[in-house]
Amino acid sequence: MAEAAADAHPNNKRKHNPNGLANESKERVIPRLLKEPNLSHAPDNYDDLVNIEYPPSLYSTMEQYLPSHMLTAPRDKKLAFMDRVLVKYRPNGERARKHREYRDRVKDKYKRLHEDLYTLDPDQIFVEPFRKAVENGSEAALREILTEHSPGVFTFTMLQPGFCSKVLEEVAHFEKWAHEVKVSVLRPNTMNNYGAVLDDIGMETMLDQLMMKFIRPFAALLFFNVGGATLDTHHGFVVEYSIGGDLDLGFHVDDSEVTLNVCLGKEFDGGELFFRGVRCDAHVNGEARSEVRGVHSSSISLIEHHPQEMLEYSHVPGRAILHAGRHRHGAKAITSGQRTNLILWCRSSEFRELKKYQRDFSAWCGECLLRKKERRRRLTNAKRQPAA
Ligand SMILES: [Zn+2]
Repeated sequence: MAEAAADAHPNNKRKHNPNGLANESKERVIPRLLKEPNLSHAPDNYDDLVNIEYPPSLYSTMEQYLPSHMLTAPRDKKLAFMDRVLVKYRPNGERARKHREYRDRVKDKYKRLHEDLYTLDPDQIFVEPFRKAVENGSEAALREILTEHSPGVFTFTMLQPGFCSKVLEEVAHFEKWAHEVKVSVLRPNTMNNYGAVLDDIGMETMLDQLMMKFIRPFAALLFFNVGGATLDTHHGFVVEYSIGGDLDLGFHVDDSEVTLNVCLGKEFDGGELFFRGVRCDAHVNGEARSEVRGVHSSSISLIEHHPQEMLEYSHVPGRAILHAGRHRHGAKAITSGQRTNLILWCRSSEFRELKKYQRDFSAWCGECLLRKKERRRRLTNAKRQPAA
């Protein structure tokens, strides 16, 4: 699987801590097996699966080492868990080869349901105000359609209902095909057990054009600090939440510079997204600021510079959210129905390269900005009060 991980993600469904990436949860990033086998567990049989990575007997044996909460899971879920353990031991080249084989197989054998989804037709995909704003391209036109819910979290109505339905149907059609021919679907990342990578089923070129022509103009304007103007690659997928499937998604940051997240439907309750501020690697576990505290400057300037970071947002089908990949977030459990979202992790190779050389505080992490400001304040004070 070439696209494995989000950066930090407590893989813990019950105890995520919405205020910080606790150390305890951080240790759960990599799925682990037990040290001693559970000999009373009767493993599933994997002999009928055609495209699994390792011999079927290995999976059956490995099952006895699964953590107890995984023992009663459906076979595909156990398989996905074990593959996530095994992926650590596979060299990159091998992983890439397996991924290529999977894509080739889908390309050769999968019969598409909606052929028109695979080319970018703005008239069929986007709602008119969105299309017009991008056509116009001016800052004013782009900002006109945006709502900023809290600093750095923007929403806008983007996709036509007909397009959303077609994507849902295509994904269901793909899942059905994969099940019939016993191809195990490569999941979009290490956190989701359901959903599919749209790039793998043939939508890579279409999504690339969508990013370059329709998302980059917004990203350049709103996320210039984190490489928004130089986005050049993407990872495009859908995630599914349902009762009996994945319910929620733990607190994490994305492996992207800018993330586009559009709800496709269908009907659901719950499943709100929560946001807790943008952080660099060094500060990803820190608390979010729900109020101004612990800082010794005048409160007025603090409110201006360190606004509220806690946000909860309820999805609306067809409406997109755009945020920095490093904006910490998670999804609450849905309480009924099914929710599917289209997600585009937009990346900038230039930004990633430059980041390697960064030695000082970043210009975009909420904590770095606070510390930078504190340092400046201390220096100014020191100059004003020369040592006696
Ligand atoms: Zn930082």
